[in-house]
Amino acid sequence: MFRFQRAQCALEFDYKPDRTLSFGASIPRRASMADTIFGKIIAGQIPCHKVYEDDRVLAFLDINPLTRGHTLVIPKEPAPTLDQLSDESAAALGRVLPRICRAVIAATGVREYNVLENNGPGAHQAVFHVHFHIIPRPGSNEGLGLRWAARSLDQGEAAELVQSITAALQKAP
Ligand code: AMP
Repeated sequence: MFRFQRAQCALEFDYKPDRTLSFGASIPRRASMADTIFGKIIAGQIPCHKVYEDDRVLAFLDINPLTRGHTLVIPKEPAPTLDQLSDESAAALGRVLPRICRAVIAATGVREYNVLENNGPGAHQAVFHVHFHIIPRPGSNEGLGLRWAARSLDQGEAAELVQSITAALQKAP
Protein backbone atom coordinates (compact mmCIF):
# COMPACT_ATOMS: atom_id res chain seq x y z
CA MET A 1 0.00 0.00 0.00
CA PHE A 2 1.29 3.48 -0.86
CA ARG A 3 1.70 6.12 1.86
CA PHE A 4 0.31 9.45 0.77
CA GLN A 5 2.69 11.74 2.65
CA ARG A 6 5.67 12.31 0.49
CA ALA A 7 7.49 15.19 -1.06
CA GLN A 8 6.02 16.07 -4.45
CA CYS A 9 2.98 14.99 -6.34
CA ALA A 10 4.09 13.18 -9.43
CA LEU A 11 3.84 9.63 -10.58
CA GLU A 12 6.56 8.92 -13.06
CA PHE A 13 7.12 5.82 -15.06
CA ASP A 14 10.50 4.70 -16.19
CA TYR A 15 9.30 2.17 -18.68
CA LYS A 16 9.67 2.71 -22.41
CA PRO A 17 12.39 5.32 -22.02
CA ASP A 18 12.48 5.90 -25.76
CA ARG A 19 8.92 7.19 -25.76
CA THR A 20 8.52 10.96 -26.13
CA LEU A 21 5.76 12.25 -23.91
CA SER A 22 3.48 14.81 -25.39
CA PHE A 23 1.79 16.73 -22.59
CA GLY A 24 -1.35 18.54 -23.60
CA ALA A 25 -1.44 16.88 -27.00
CA SER A 26 -4.93 16.14 -28.16
CA ILE A 27 -6.65 12.91 -27.27
CA PRO A 28 -8.82 11.61 -30.07
CA ARG A 29 -12.51 11.65 -29.31
CA ARG A 30 -14.37 8.48 -30.13
CA ALA A 31 -12.38 6.49 -32.65
CA SER A 32 -13.78 4.16 -35.22
CA MET A 33 -12.75 0.56 -34.74
CA ALA A 34 -10.36 0.69 -37.69
CA ASP A 35 -8.48 3.70 -36.31
CA THR A 36 -6.12 1.86 -33.99
CA ILE A 37 -4.00 -1.24 -34.01
CA PHE A 38 -6.23 -2.73 -31.29
CA GLY A 39 -9.31 -2.10 -33.44
CA LYS A 40 -7.62 -4.06 -36.19
CA ILE A 41 -6.85 -6.87 -33.74
CA ILE A 42 -10.50 -6.98 -32.60
CA ALA A 43 -11.61 -7.04 -36.24
CA GLY A 44 -9.25 -9.94 -36.92
CA GLN A 45 -7.31 -7.91 -39.47
CA ILE A 46 -4.04 -8.45 -37.65
CA PRO A 47 -3.09 -11.32 -35.36
CA CYS A 48 -2.53 -11.35 -31.63
CA HIS A 49 -1.62 -13.88 -28.95
CA LYS A 50 -5.12 -14.14 -27.55
CA VAL A 51 -5.63 -15.39 -24.01
CA TYR A 52 -9.28 -14.44 -23.42
CA GLU A 53 -12.34 -13.25 -25.34
CA ASP A 54 -16.01 -12.63 -24.62
CA ASP A 55 -18.70 -10.43 -26.18
CA ARG A 56 -17.19 -7.20 -24.85
CA VAL A 57 -13.60 -7.93 -23.87
CA LEU A 58 -10.41 -9.25 -25.47
CA ALA A 59 -7.09 -10.02 -23.77
CA PHE A 60 -3.80 -10.79 -25.46
CA LEU A 61 -0.06 -10.70 -24.82
CA ASP A 62 1.71 -7.37 -25.19
CA ILE A 63 3.97 -7.47 -28.24
CA ASN A 64 6.75 -5.71 -26.31
CA PRO A 65 6.41 -7.17 -22.83
CA LEU A 66 8.00 -5.48 -19.86
CA THR A 67 8.11 -8.87 -18.20
CA ARG A 68 7.08 -12.41 -19.05
CA GLY A 69 3.29 -12.63 -19.05
CA HIS A 70 2.65 -8.91 -19.72
CA THR A 71 -0.95 -8.98 -20.91
CA LEU A 72 -3.33 -6.38 -22.30
CA VAL A 73 -7.05 -6.43 -21.52
CA ILE A 74 -9.19 -4.27 -23.79
CA PRO A 75 -12.86 -3.52 -24.34
CA LYS A 76 -14.19 -4.20 -27.81
CA GLU A 77 -15.82 -0.77 -27.70
CA PRO A 78 -13.45 1.68 -29.43
CA ALA A 79 -13.16 4.25 -26.63
CA PRO A 80 -9.84 6.14 -26.72
CA THR A 81 -9.66 6.78 -22.96
CA LEU A 82 -11.31 5.34 -19.85
CA ASP A 83 -13.49 8.41 -19.25
CA GLN A 84 -15.07 7.85 -22.66
CA LEU A 85 -15.94 4.20 -22.03
CA SER A 86 -19.54 3.06 -21.50
CA ASP A 87 -20.66 1.63 -18.16
CA GLU A 88 -21.43 -1.67 -19.89
CA SER A 89 -17.89 -2.10 -21.23
CA ALA A 90 -16.42 -0.90 -17.93
CA ALA A 91 -18.46 -3.49 -16.05
CA ALA A 92 -17.43 -6.21 -18.48
CA LEU A 93 -13.76 -5.30 -18.03
CA GLY A 94 -14.08 -5.17 -14.25
CA ARG A 95 -15.74 -8.55 -14.19
CA VAL A 96 -12.87 -10.34 -15.94
CA LEU A 97 -9.78 -8.36 -14.94
CA PRO A 98 -9.24 -10.18 -11.61
CA ARG A 99 -9.72 -13.53 -13.32
CA ILE A 100 -7.14 -12.71 -15.98
CA CYS A 101 -4.75 -11.47 -13.26
CA ARG A 102 -5.15 -14.81 -11.49
CA ALA A 103 -4.42 -16.64 -14.73
CA VAL A 104 -1.28 -14.56 -15.35
CA ILE A 105 -0.12 -15.32 -11.80
CA ALA A 106 -0.77 -19.02 -12.32
CA ALA A 107 1.06 -19.04 -15.67
CA THR A 108 4.10 -17.05 -14.57
CA GLY A 109 4.38 -18.07 -10.94
CA VAL A 110 4.80 -14.36 -10.15
CA ARG A 111 2.41 -13.22 -7.42
CA GLU A 112 3.08 -9.48 -7.58
CA TYR A 113 2.03 -7.33 -10.50
CA ASN A 114 0.87 -3.89 -11.57
CA VAL A 115 -2.33 -3.08 -13.44
CA LEU A 116 -1.80 0.07 -15.47
CA GLU A 117 -4.11 2.07 -17.70
CA ASN A 118 -2.73 5.16 -19.44
CA ASN A 119 -4.89 8.01 -20.73
CA GLY A 120 -3.44 10.59 -23.08
CA PRO A 121 -0.02 11.00 -24.67
CA GLY A 122 1.33 12.92 -21.67
CA ALA A 123 0.35 9.95 -19.52
CA HIS A 124 2.24 7.46 -21.71
CA GLN A 125 -0.69 6.33 -23.84
CA ALA A 126 0.47 5.25 -27.29
CA VAL A 127 -2.57 3.34 -28.54
CA PHE A 128 -5.81 5.30 -28.36
CA HIS A 129 -8.05 2.41 -27.49
CA VAL A 130 -8.59 1.74 -23.77
CA HIS A 131 -6.34 -1.03 -22.48
CA PHE A 132 -5.31 -2.34 -19.09
CA HIS A 133 -1.78 -3.66 -18.78
CA ILE A 134 -1.23 -6.57 -16.39
CA ILE A 135 2.50 -6.46 -15.71
CA PRO A 136 4.08 -9.17 -13.56
CA ARG A 137 6.65 -7.84 -11.12
CA PRO A 138 9.12 -10.70 -10.59
CA GLY A 139 11.75 -8.53 -8.91
CA SER A 140 12.61 -4.97 -7.95
CA ASN A 141 14.49 -4.39 -11.21
CA GLU A 142 11.91 -5.98 -13.49
CA GLY A 143 8.49 -4.83 -14.53
CA LEU A 144 6.93 -1.42 -14.14
CA GLY A 145 9.32 1.17 -12.74
CA LEU A 146 7.57 3.76 -10.62
CA ARG A 147 8.70 6.90 -8.89
CA TRP A 148 5.79 7.90 -6.68
CA ALA A 149 6.69 11.36 -5.47
CA ALA A 150 3.60 12.33 -3.50
CA ARG A 151 2.98 15.44 -1.39
CA SER A 152 0.68 16.06 1.55
CA LEU A 153 -2.96 16.75 0.81
CA ASP A 154 -3.80 20.37 1.60
CA GLN A 155 -7.00 20.45 3.69
CA GLY A 156 -8.43 23.53 1.96
CA GLU A 157 -7.69 22.13 -1.45
CA ALA A 158 -9.22 18.79 -0.42
CA ALA A 159 -12.50 20.41 0.60
CA GLU A 160 -12.62 22.34 -2.68
CA LEU A 161 -11.88 19.22 -4.69
CA VAL A 162 -14.48 17.11 -2.90
CA GLN A 163 -17.04 19.77 -3.69
CA SER A 164 -16.14 20.11 -7.36
CA ILE A 165 -15.79 16.38 -8.01
CA THR A 166 -19.07 15.51 -6.28
CA ALA A 167 -20.80 18.34 -8.17
CA ALA A 168 -19.40 17.00 -11.45
CA LEU A 169 -20.56 13.50 -10.57
CA GLN A 170 -24.08 14.75 -9.87
CA LYS A 171 -24.17 16.64 -13.17
CA ALA A 172 -22.81 13.79 -15.30
CA PRO A 173 -22.77 10.57 -13.26
P1 AMP B 1 0.23 2.34 -23.88
O1 AMP B 1 1.52 3.07 -23.70
O2 AMP B 1 -0.48 2.17 -22.56
O3 AMP B 1 -0.67 2.94 -24.94
O4 AMP B 1 0.64 0.89 -24.32
C1 AMP B 1 0.43 0.35 -25.60
C2 AMP B 1 0.95 -1.05 -25.55
O5 AMP B 1 0.48 -1.74 -26.69
C3 AMP B 1 2.48 -1.17 -25.56
O6 AMP B 1 2.91 -1.86 -24.39
C4 AMP B 1 2.75 -1.96 -26.83
O7 AMP B 1 3.83 -2.86 -26.69
C5 AMP B 1 1.45 -2.67 -27.06
N1 AMP B 1 1.19 -3.04 -28.45
C6 AMP B 1 1.25 -2.25 -29.53
N2 AMP B 1 0.91 -2.94 -30.64
C7 AMP B 1 0.61 -4.20 -30.24
C8 AMP B 1 0.21 -5.38 -30.91
N3 AMP B 1 0.04 -5.41 -32.24
N4 AMP B 1 0.01 -6.49 -30.18
C9 AMP B 1 0.20 -6.48 -28.84
N5 AMP B 1 0.58 -5.39 -28.16
C10 AMP B 1 0.79 -4.26 -28.83
